[in-house]
Amino acid sequence: MHMKSFGAALTVTGSMHLLTLDGGRQLLIDCGLFQGDDETDARNREPFDFDVRGLDGVILTHAHLDHVGRLPLLVRGGYRGPIHCTPPTAALAETVLLDSARLQEDGYRMDLRHARRQGREAEVLPPLYEEADVHRTVALLRPDLAFGETTTIAGVKITPQRAGHILGSAYLLLESADGRLIMSGDLGNRESGLQMDFTPPPEADAVVIETTYANRTHRPWTETLLEFRDALRGAVRQGGKILIPTFAIERAQVILYTLKDLMDAGEVPRIPVFLDSPMATRATNEYFEFGDELIPPVRDALRAGEDPFRPSTLHVVPTSAESQRLNKYDGPAIIMAGNGMMTGGRIQHHLKHHLWNPSTSLIIVSYQSPSSLGGRIVTGADHVRIMGEDIAVRAHVHTIGGFSAHADQDDLLAFLATTGTPHVWLVHGEPEVMDAFVPVLEGRGLKGDLMPDRQDVDLRGPGFPQGRPPGVVLDAAPDAARAEGGE
Ligand SMILES: [Zn+2]
Repeated sequence: MHMKSFGAALTVTGSMHLLTLDGGRQLLIDCGLFQGDDETDARNREPFDFDVRGLDGVILTHAHLDHVGRLPLLVRGGYRGPIHCTPPTAALAETVLLDSARLQEDGYRMDLRHARRQGREAEVLPPLYEEADVHRTVALLRPDLAFGETTTIAGVKITPQRAGHILGSAYLLLESADGRLIMSGDLGNRESGLQMDFTPPPEADAVVIETTYANRTHRPWTETLLEFRDALRGAVRQGGKILIPTFAIERAQVILYTLKDLMDAGEVPRIPVFLDSPMATRATNEYFEFGDELIPPVRDALRAGEDPFRPSTLHVVPTSAESQRLNKYDGPAIIMAGNGMMTGGRIQHHLKHHLWNPSTSLIIVSYQSPSSLGGRIVTGADHVRIMGEDIAVRAHVHTIGGFSAHADQDDLLAFLATTGTPHVWLVHGEPEVMDAFVPVLEGRGLKGDLMPDRQDVDLRGPGFPQGRPPGVVLDAAPDAARAEGGE
């Protein structure tokens, strides 16, 4: 039972794990995009370091871009086999990949325009992939995985179970002559959100587990709601725009649901809410389609024909021209726009128009990577560069951590509580966070190891002393920029 990770090893982004099982069969679990600064993005352009055509199958845990975003490259590289996933993941993956292709094509055109003026167009990198690549990829999606039902793929028995992270998210039990392996994908926060809790996993010989927040405990959900309510009330008193940068999947629906709840209960004034994200609008349709998957109050509201994602003052903003017109809108209003880390998308022009204004409130409900625009704002930058302009940060900035869709340390330990004594391999986390989790695992009698980057390991082998692969350098400075959240 061997694994080699080509992403989400010693980092939180670019999930892609190649499993080699008995008889040499190879399965790829997730095929995500690296997202971050230029150096991180550059890894998306590296060729696949394995025989793409020789894969016996690809399985997706969920539809976040950092788990599916390199699929079109895999198809460009020659993969023509099935891509197995749950039905909601298939639906959301199409939306996510099309959006990714369009963003890259738009970005390319803009970079090219700027570079031409400097006579440097030869230096502009082409988009990673285009819409046509996405269509070829979507044609390979097989929505044939159902929670709790065992499917045999390339001779390996695979049972997906509810992971409780986003709509359709699964963790996988893989059974073969090599043993029993659990791949966690991303696991949900058992308190927050619209998803039901993850299903307790069975015993296994090895568990590959995400560790985004393995070193912390989320604030209780009731406190998060009060914090959000108070931030909104304060923002309404300021009288300016209230900007909420929002990831389109899960976070947008959670915020819409929460806003509706708070407004219906009279806890927050009914000011206009603009959902300025076509992708979030499309994703919300899938929450209707697969409403039976959601927590009982939401599921029941949907069954009763209600719309739990529609505050009474909601306006959906379809076109970018209408989005631009919002800049002239007078009076307080909530504007939800992507992307969540403010590194692109419509949120940027709203920030450009309002961030300098002391009456503006910026309410951050998502993970901010240190190098992102959002990360710089969270760490107190007084000026930031947005769309080629230097903008003063005078808005009130509120960071609300409890909306995270990721498991915290208690959730992760609860997940491992029913798995017996597996060898635990840590992925999808910052090295310092994982390093702090290893002794916690040891305290529970579990051997934990940080999964090395692009290095083959025997998942049932001895691992490394103190759980650290050779060459891992830990950053002594804690990461102050990170606001909780995360994809
Ligand atoms: Zn995720």
